[in-house]
Amino acid sequence: MERDLYGAYSNLGLYLRTMQTLYHGITTLYGADFSTLKMGQQMKEVACYHDAYLLVEDGVIVALGGYSEAPEVAHRVDLGGVEVMPGFVDSHTHTVFAASREEEFVMRIKGATYEEIAEAGGGILNSARKLNEASEDSLFEEALERLKLMILQGTTTVEIKSGYGLTLTSELKMLRVIKRLKEALPIQIRSTFLGAHAFPEGFRERKSEYVELIIDQMLPQIVELQLADHIDVFCEKGFFTSEQAQRILEAARGLGLPSKIHGNQLGQSGGVELAVAQGSWSVDHLEYTDEKQWELLLGSFFKTIAGQRIPVASGTMPVALPGVSYNLGLPFTRGREMIDFGLPLALATDFNPGSSPVNSLQVVVSLACTQMKLTPEEAFNAITVNAALALRLHETCGTLCPGKRADFLVMKSQNSLAKIPYYLGQNQVSRVFVAGEEFLPE
Ligand SMILES: [Zn+2]
Repeated sequence: MERDLYGAYSNLGLYLRTMQTLYHGITTLYGADFSTLKMGQQMKEVACYHDAYLLVEDGVIVALGGYSEAPEVAHRVDLGGVEVMPGFVDSHTHTVFAASREEEFVMRIKGATYEEIAEAGGGILNSARKLNEASEDSLFEEALERLKLMILQGTTTVEIKSGYGLTLTSELKMLRVIKRLKEALPIQIRSTFLGAHAFPEGFRERKSEYVELIIDQMLPQIVELQLADHIDVFCEKGFFTSEQAQRILEAARGLGLPSKIHGNQLGQSGGVELAVAQGSWSVDHLEYTDEKQWELLLGSFFKTIAGQRIPVASGTMPVALPGVSYNLGLPFTRGREMIDFGLPLALATDFNPGSSPVNSLQVVVSLACTQMKLTPEEAFNAITVNAALALRLHETCGTLCPGKRADFLVMKSQNSLAKIPYYLGQNQVSRVFVAGEEFLPE
């Protein structure tokens, strides 16, 4: 109906609205199925077409398959014999920050612990101080450049958290910057309110007052201004207890804000139990978990209906962040065992200036393969289909299938699924298409 009305005004308009582009010259099209969740053994599977085509209209995939069955379409683009895969999904980042923290990196090399660095004025509070001083425009410009670099490495959907503000004014500033980034770039961006990232200076002895501040002042305003798609809480020893985190998440839930949790990074924090109980969309980090928590997480992906246990997509996605383990020397999340246990797993960069200055999901895949012993196929599913579900964007991205956004990557070589982890630190992506348009930063 909309198309007919549009065409009535202008023939050119009709042409533009209905123009289809057929991409061919694709040796292998990876991740080409309707799946929205891969658990356990399914994580080994990557649906592929060989000698394939991809048909795109208005930024959305309308058909794909073997080239011999491609429809007749006037506008055709020969990609020249390349591999193509879905754009990557980075479901956990802190891309808006005021300054890098390489001085702390050097302190750690010389033997200082995370706690000692925090005592010396470093850590999250260091970022908070610098963010308070930074202008909104400079925060925006710097984050924009960081995102462009991420896109060129294949990331076409990204989540960004606040949490370096820790005052109402500065948290709002960060969230407004994320909103501007959403408008400035064609990729999908989701924003997360992380006021409960750390206790700000002045509240260390008055922790419950800061929890009240989040619940009574920050949350209502942020929801009112529609500045966040989710809330997150750093549920960890020395940060927010599971009781404090629960109060914050329940207040958020009352306002209709879904949750994600930083949990079990430094020990058994109760983060997993809380995430499952609250129906959080994901629980991220998980350096310290055991079978008790895996059982809980797995249970969240099943419902019993009429005596039958059936899998559902509404569980709490476990998200591993191996860039943090690599940089801080923490144990790696037990991803191999978790997948063998039957769980789904997603991977993200946790891109941030303190514990993971890693902006590339390709590097994360490499760490997951070498350190967590995931296969390239499992790691690929962990940064595409399962990562999309961690953001509940599985209807729009994560695989290539009709109805989803035409976010796809042209790879530099053949057998690229294994080349990504193999060539650590070398960008294997040559061209990035976002909603059907090639991304070319000026
Ligand atoms: Zn994080």
